[in-house]
Amino acid sequence: GEAITAEMIPELSVQSFPLCMRNMQDVLKASRHLKHEGRQQYGLFLKGIGLSVEEALAFWRKSFSTVTDDKFNKEYRYNIRHNYGLEGSRKNYTPKSCTAIITGPVPGPGQAHGCPFRHSSDQSLTSLLQSTLGSALSSSDLKEILAATKAGHYHVACTRVFEIQHAKLPGGKGVEKGEGLGGGDSVDHPNRYFDASRKVIR
Ligand code: SF4
Repeated sequence: GEAITAEMIPELSVQSFPLCMRNMQDVLKASRHLKHEGRQQYGLFLKGIGLSVEEALAFWRKSFSTVTDDKFNKEYRYNIRHNYGLEGSRKNYTPKSCTAIITGPVPGPGQAHGCPFRHSSDQSLTSLLQSTLGSALSSSDLKEILAATKAGHYHVACTRVFEIQHAKLPGGKGVEKGEGLGGGDSVDHPNRYFDASRKVIR
């Protein structure tokens, strides 16, 4: 894939991140912090899109702009390096799948991890959809996405978001309704969402 740097993350989050990761980027930007579960879920996703450990350290250092270098080095550096298999058991951690995220720890107050389709109220899901898709989101799309969510068909809802975010323009690249990530595939992993998006955008 393309070489991903820390500075590219904000723009990539708008173009190509699924809602779960877009939400964490927005919360990180607004609050200058993410709690442990969020750092794990988001950090491994970023590793999966091709962010090197050096770029990951630069990204988190810059994002946590209110903490001192000393606190950053003591409290966060180890875990970031750990995710890349460079500390402790040196295990090569892989990004979480949708199933792992959906059945994983439920986010509490002030936490931003999880799957917005599974873990957010209708109201916060609606505002996240509106900020992500803007005017591309019609009221019938919104209804359809909320209905799929309510029925527990989170992957269907997420796939529909992908289709709207990557809707085919006349003579351009993109996907039609029903094509999903391509060939009718639906979202089962946040990193597949990203990879499919880059294929359409590039
Ligand atoms: Fe993220 Fe998967 Fe939920 Fe989509 S369905 S928001 S990719 S966890």
